[in-house]
Amino acid sequence: MKSFNAYILISLFSFLICVPALRAFEFRHHDNDELIAVLEDVHSRCPNITQVYTLSEKSVLGVPLYVIEFSSHPGHHQLLVPEFKYIANMHGNEVLGRELLLKLADYFCEHYLADDPAIKKLIEQTRIHLMPSMNPDGWQLSTDTGGQDYLLGRYNNHSVDLNRNFPDLDRIMFGNEQAHIEHNNHLLQQVDHLTEPIQPETKAVMRLIMQVPFVLSANLHGGDLVANYPYDASRSGALTEYTKSPDDQTFRHLAQTYASLHHGGMADKSRSGCGSDGFNFGKQGGITNGAAWYSVQGGMQDFNYLSSNDFEITLELGCEKYPAADTLSQEWENNRDALIGFIWQAHIGIKGLVKDALTGKPIANAVIHAKNITNGRDDDIKHDVTSVHAGDYWRLLTPGEYEITAFSPGYSAQTRRVKVDDLGEGKEAMRVDFWLQPLLPPPRPMEDDDVFDLDQDSNPSPGNSEYETYNDLLKDRLRSKWIYNIYKRAAAK
Ligand SMILES: [Zn+2]
Repeated sequence: MKSFNAYILISLFSFLICVPALRAFEFRHHDNDELIAVLEDVHSRCPNITQVYTLSEKSVLGVPLYVIEFSSHPGHHQLLVPEFKYIANMHGNEVLGRELLLKLADYFCEHYLADDPAIKKLIEQTRIHLMPSMNPDGWQLSTDTGGQDYLLGRYNNHSVDLNRNFPDLDRIMFGNEQAHIEHNNHLLQQVDHLTEPIQPETKAVMRLIMQVPFVLSANLHGGDLVANYPYDASRSGALTEYTKSPDDQTFRHLAQTYASLHHGGMADKSRSGCGSDGFNFGKQGGITNGAAWYSVQGGMQDFNYLSSNDFEITLELGCEKYPAADTLSQEWENNRDALIGFIWQAHIGIKGLVKDALTGKPIANAVIHAKNITNGRDDDIKHDVTSVHAGDYWRLLTPGEYEITAFSPGYSAQTRRVKVDDLGEGKEAMRVDFWLQPLLPPPRPMEDDDVFDLDQDSNPSPGNSEYETYNDLLKDRLRSKWIYNIYKRAAAK
């Protein structure tokens, strides 16, 4: 008997160490080791729809920066499937977003396994990246010192505020505006100097932004209760000044979506404000333009919008930067529907493919321009998006009528009128494809002084039809060259 009992004990012990214990998620503050343990646990329960990966750089103190991805094909961009991200805990002492993203990962897995149709649909139609902590060093310092200091732990371990450390693309964009250059996307190539060294945590996220064709994202902070949207930097340099982006209407809608789905009063007009700064964002429906609150240079939100196709907002999730552990469960209830509903916003507007009309090959880096013509309006939205490597693109838009134009070097532009409907959760963006006709003569790689290379022998002169054709071709070529120069580096991403 004795030996039999020993055999059972040994077998049981082997079983326990071979099969990872399935832990129920606990609402508490997870340290940096527990953070990855939660992500690995989710991955072990849902291996077919998740991937855990680390960014290219570690934190200053050498902590890996972890992301968990949810997708029906983890590790791959899928044609016409929008990419979404949440990044939390960029300020190390603002910790609620970190715990909410860990719980969101657990919730996605649990509900996927339980065949929840809404969650299955969301994961099948969207590639979702969750990064619970961009600043694990700051989290550690803040936690080790009691978590109650307004600033301690905010910065990374080089005492740098990561939300001021991105290249200041607002300055470049405002400069373009003053020079009447109507170009305010993919501006990273125009950066000629940096005001301070790029920190490893910032560099890691910049690489992520450049590598993954994100459509929509949010940056999760704490210390107030409001959904903040671009621009964060004021146009005039004033400390506070409403600073519209070309997509102001869409950004207001995105921010409002989060605020109105938040069950903890973000959009409650009768609530009181968080602090002594005089702002009560409840009165304005729980949303604010970033620069209207206070101007920020070098922030991550505007960097996303001005360097890539991504639309990002900043969520301040509560008055307390480091809420007590026993409030986390309620905070999850407050934010759950908003966190999920906001991801569905990656599906508003239109999406489609841009292809060569003769060969059917996808065209990457084609420019997609939108003009709002709702109710007789004639408003160019002066912020273009580009198609990604497989020719797919997404253009977030609010309901209305639009003229959408696609163009690419060496092709005739194509314009289509579209009516964008109000989409509820569970719907995908309307599909609008473009088939671009190659220009004649056939395009070849352009050199710097390669504009006036049309057929010089035809000697066109004003008034004859040859001249009109010549002029049209020249204009196309000039426009193509301009666009080409702007986008050629984007092509190398
Ligand atoms: Zn913050």
